[in-house]
Amino acid sequence: QAKTDPMDKCVRFQQQMRHLRDEHLAIKKDLERAIQVNEFTLEYQPIASTLTDRVISAEALIRWCHPEKGLIYPDEFIPIAEETGLINEIGLWVNRQVAHMQARLARLNYDVPLSLNVSPRQLSDPHFVTHMRALPEETGCNPEMISLELTESVLLGDIPNAFETLSLLKRTGYRIVIDDFGAGYSNLAYLHNYPIDGIKIDRMFMNDIASGGAIVKLILSLANALGAEVVAEGVETIEQRAWLLENGCHLFQGYLYSKPVPEERFLSMLETQVQIASM
Ligand code: C2E
Ligand code: MG
Ligand code: MG
Ligand code: MG
Repeated sequence: QAKTDPMDKCVRFQQQMRHLRDEHLAIKKDLERAIQVNEFTLEYQPIASTLTDRVISAEALIRWCHPEKGLIYPDEFIPIAEETGLINEIGLWVNRQVAHMQARLARLNYDVPLSLNVSPRQLSDPHFVTHMRALPEETGCNPEMISLELTESVLLGDIPNAFETLSLLKRTGYRIVIDDFGAGYSNLAYLHNYPIDGIKIDRMFMNDIASGGAIVKLILSLANALGAEVVAEGVETIEQRAWLLENGCHLFQGYLYSKPVPEERFLSMLETQVQIASM
């Protein structure tokens, strides 16, 4: 085997970096354009009851409907939107959409709370709180029916005034939920510093269930002690669902029940559910 010249390696590395940076810049420009013409849409993924198998609530998940590339999923553009700060503008749109949707659900007499995702960068944007506090009057939404999903990194990170910001949001009525719980940090000290209403168990722990589910049990009793509601994420099998029911976890989300669906499809799921119930 021929030895590679370290100089070659270095050049290749530089080329790769340049390529990545160009791609990054291209996506940034494309995102700026997409914001102008609004190419985003929200899908809703139901959160269901392990007791009744009915839809209890739903999480809003963003998609980018790209004119050439088709549907782009958030993992491909949210990190770049975060880095460039474009997430702030995108987030304002998401929040307003969800607020309108909640108001619409209420008008249709559906008692179905919604949740939306908040990036670290958004929380440190002063406009974010002002905007969230204005939404109930602007859209007629009930903030108590809207959960803000934040990852642990937000609560442990160095975001100035995170506590004050979350307290203000709570006082407005919004619920605060920890997303992907257990995925990143083992430092639990932040838990009693924040006004937490719920915890979503990261989907990687669903693999743990097959081997006894010790970690999930621990998270469930922790949440119970904190008085936090628990949702199990990424539930893909009936065995996982059965285990959750048996172990007192009453809310689940995952492909087993439903993948994220367009707004109108979500509404028809609710409608079908009401019809079945009244049969
Ligand atoms: P997340 O908030 O943890 O959302 C759950 C992700 O897991 C979603 O991916 C969902 O489609 C996927 N998922 C749901 N059930 C299953 C399952 O049973 N198996 C598997 N393998 N996956 C499942 P999605 O929609 O691609 O979103 C990815 C992430 O992007 C979200 O993770 C969230 O962190 C972020 N995101 C999505 N929408 C927004 C948004 O509006 N704003 C911000 N800031 N972030 C968002
Ligand atoms: Mg989420
Ligand atoms: Mg999650
Ligand atoms: Mg996630």
